[in-house]
Amino acid sequence: MKMEKLDEAQKMLEAAYEARSRNNDFDRSCTADNLGRLFEMKGDLKKAVEWRTANGRNRMICSYYDCSKSYKQMFSKFDELKKCAKCKCVYYCDKKCQQNDWSRHKSYCKAAVVPTTEASK
Ligand SMILES: [Zn+2]
Ligand SMILES: [Zn+2]
Repeated sequence: MKMEKLDEAQKMLEAAYEARSRNNDFDRSCTADNLGRLFEMKGDLKKAVEWRTANGRNRMICSYYDCSKSYKQMFSKFDELKKCAKCKCVYYCDKKCQQNDWSRHKSYCKAAVVPTTEASK
């Protein structure tokens, strides 16, 4: 994985997040999750959590990309999602979504000295 590529992607996603701010809330949450994934890849778990909760704790999406809820554009609530027990920086509807995402997430999952989400509102 190339860090410069990630930096480029980060700029694009941040711009997209701003652009989407008003008109499409669900897309905004998707972009926030993409940014979360990007920081997960960079190993910055604190930022990953910040982004995944950036659009509001009641407007989060499952971190599993192919989640059926995401296809239906359904938001998830922070309190209803399950965190990865180890790194606590990814959020899933249930065990099934977590298992489905594991092949991707396992490369980035580290037991973290982590993020109490202090920025919570
Ligand atoms: Zn899910
Ligand atoms: Zn994890």
